[in-house]
Amino acid sequence: MTGSPASSAAPRPWQSQPDKEGHFGSFGGRYVPETLMPALAELSAAYAEAKEDGRFQDELSELLRDFAGRETPLYEARNMSQRLGQARIFLKREDLAHTGAHKINNVLGQVLLAKRMGKTRIIAETGAGQHGVATATGAALMGMQCLIHMGTLDIERQAVNVERMRMLGAEVAPVEAGSCSLKDAVNAAIRDWVTNVADTHYIIGSVVGPHPYPMMVRDFQAVIGHEARRQILERAGRLPDLLVACVGAGSNAIGLFHPFLDDEVRMLGVEAAGHGLDSGEHSASLVAGRPGVFQGASLYLLQDVQGQVHEAHSVAAGLDYPGVGPEHSLLKDLERVSYTAVEDGQALKAFVRLTREEGIIPALESAHALAALEDIVPGLPADSIVVVCLSGRGDKDLAQVMARMEDAS
Ligand SMILES: *Cc1c(COP(=O)(O)O)cnc(C)c1O
Repeated sequence: MTGSPASSAAPRPWQSQPDKEGHFGSFGGRYVPETLMPALAELSAAYAEAKEDGRFQDELSELLRDFAGRETPLYEARNMSQRLGQARIFLKREDLAHTGAHKINNVLGQVLLAKRMGKTRIIAETGAGQHGVATATGAALMGMQCLIHMGTLDIERQAVNVERMRMLGAEVAPVEAGSCSLKDAVNAAIRDWVTNVADTHYIIGSVVGPHPYPMMVRDFQAVIGHEARRQILERAGRLPDLLVACVGAGSNAIGLFHPFLDDEVRMLGVEAAGHGLDSGEHSASLVAGRPGVFQGASLYLLQDVQGQVHEAHSVAAGLDYPGVGPEHSLLKDLERVSYTAVEDGQALKAFVRLTREEGIIPALESAHALAALEDIVPGLPADSIVVVCLSGRGDKDLAQVMARMEDAS
């Protein structure tokens, strides 16, 4: 672990907040057109104020408790623990949060902030539709107008989530440009925000984008780690040895990890190796990417030799993203967190295994974290404690998994 050069009282490098421009080491920042700067400055100022305001924090806590169903349980997966040996494995049950995943934690924080800023309109972009559904849910709760930008290809592929968004009162705006998917929806959302910033807040769904989003989304998701820390101390009487979470753009993982960064706790982020790291069809930005600039920030990114952004692939739609948040990028370089990647097939097996073994159907995204345990846990010292973020539930993935199982049989 990187020691502090000055004295033991000096802050450790990962402990510090990003600087005023949002840099995590050489990552993060604000690589955006001049026209976006005033909106980002306004958002930064409003967030800094809200963060220090007890009334804002109380209101958010109440929503997280009564609306989202927090705190989520920390469940000891005894059947899995017994099979793998060596460790007590605990699952942080974000699948039990309202709308079925951790995304609601961030959305509730941001809609509350938008209301405080006097905004009346919420926009977001979505690929798989999960962030769109969470955003439409938050907007309905706050009585705000809501527009979700979504590529026409994704609208076709994710019909059920499009229906959910529309039922919640959101408008889903088809984006017919480029590859008609997430990247193009992001561009449409940014244009919308620049044009309508007076009444509109743009909710980014993970720890990416220009400052202050990576910091702000991390803070809102850190509720996962704060709860888990308290729960494991109560249950096991000590801190865990290892934390494990899947990494798409990185929000559920940083949410679990961040409150433990100063502790002697190992951490493992699990990316999607898709069809295999050698196939070129994967989403392993940290394991197989290089630093670059993408959607407003410097971060680890999948790119070809010319620096062109490379299409990502994963069986899990929520991991199918070519970049990863700037704070993870720094934590990787500091070797404070380890990162690995598991393939589609391993994740599918882990999906079925948890369902049969514990009676919990995990999201395919979360199944990547579970798959990583198979190799790691048997090699741990006896009586280790492992906490895994079960980022979401897998009902959304059933059709896809069943089709794959039929293919395989
Ligand atoms: C969106 C999503 C993810 C990936 O996003 P992160 O920002 O990396 O957490 C993981 N799991 C589930 C269930 C999701 O919906």
